[in-house]
Amino acid sequence: MSTPLALYLHIPFCAARCAYCDFNTYAGLETLFEPYIAALGQEIRSAGAQRGRPVGRTIYIGGGTPTVLPAELLAQALAACREAFAIAPDAEITSEANPGTVDRPRFAALRSLGVNRLSIGVQSFDDAELHWLGRIHTAAEAQAAFEAARTAGFDNISLDLIFGLPDQRPATWMQTLARAISLAPEHLSLYSLTVEPGTPLAERVARGLAAEPDDDHAALLYEIACDMLAAAGYEQYEISNWARTGGATPDRLPMPDYRCQHNLVYWRREPYLGFGAGAHSFEAERRWWNVRPVSEYIWRIAEGRSAEAGSEAIDQKTALGEAMMLGLRLIGEGVSEARLVAQFGIGLEEAFGRQIGRLAQRGLLERLEGRVRLTPRGKLLGNQVFVEFMP
Ligand code: SF4
Repeated sequence: MSTPLALYLHIPFCAARCAYCDFNTYAGLETLFEPYIAALGQEIRSAGAQRGRPVGRTIYIGGGTPTVLPAELLAQALAACREAFAIAPDAEITSEANPGTVDRPRFAALRSLGVNRLSIGVQSFDDAELHWLGRIHTAAEAQAAFEAARTAGFDNISLDLIFGLPDQRPATWMQTLARAISLAPEHLSLYSLTVEPGTPLAERVARGLAAEPDDDHAALLYEIACDMLAAAGYEQYEISNWARTGGATPDRLPMPDYRCQHNLVYWRREPYLGFGAGAHSFEAERRWWNVRPVSEYIWRIAEGRSAEAGSEAIDQKTALGEAMMLGLRLIGEGVSEARLVAQFGIGLEEAFGRQIGRLAQRGLLERLEGRVRLTPRGKLLGNQVFVEFMP
């Protein structure tokens, strides 16, 4: 039987471009919505057929902004997934959603398509920050979107927040976190602002109109978030991700696992297929990626050609380094001896005994029974740890 696969569907459309974003996404391409989804469906069907309709363990519709698409088009994309892959009835199916593009009927339509998890791009609950970031929505609209999603029946919602804006006051960040916590989402993803080349933000920085984000300032805001979210009952299971958890007690059933099952596949270095313009895939120690321009993607697929733009075979040394760098991002879980042996036939000490010893001595890594993981200090200095495992 073939390995279950995580499926990623890229929707490269947005209502407008945010100042900091360098994702493969475009505004003003509404005329390409239909041909794009037709091509996406074709790519999905052909990948499923080549592999004999394997199990699709998760589906993640990302972008871009999937919620700019009419529900009928998202329905077509999901129908292609179900036709080409065996999708379990309880498989996690996530859609990203942008508060400026959603309302209760839109969420209800997503729910009726079988989407059972939302990742809402709130970014901030401060209107001045949202404006600075070039977002198309206000804080009130972000909150209204969350409430509309709940009313439509979503019981697994993640909020994305950005921190580390130049001059962002800790008090403003704490207000954003407090407002997010007050909504009681099941999951939160927190990202530090980075200035990506070619973005409007990079141009503003280059022209002296905006300051560069500062690492020490971002670290302070990150620690504030770690403390506030822990106090609110969220478990940090990855460097940038928190989920509500709760074990079984005599009078309480265990809570569902709200960690993002799709992203766990990436961190555990398990196989996934990405569909759409610029999407990346990983299977059998090979990584490949599609052409980025939307129209080239469409015409290649329409001509019956592959959308693949490039690929790389991953040798064992690189693969082992990746397994450490990705696995150590998982705060509690870390990298397990058993997983490494199963994937590569080699144990932790044999592969990285020297590096692990050095990092343990510096208080950045800890050895537990059958696994290694970051210490609380290692979590704050992750880059110093990861560099040790770079091939
Ligand atoms: S909505 Fe998201 S994907 Fe679209 S431009 Fe903004 S940050 Fe990028």
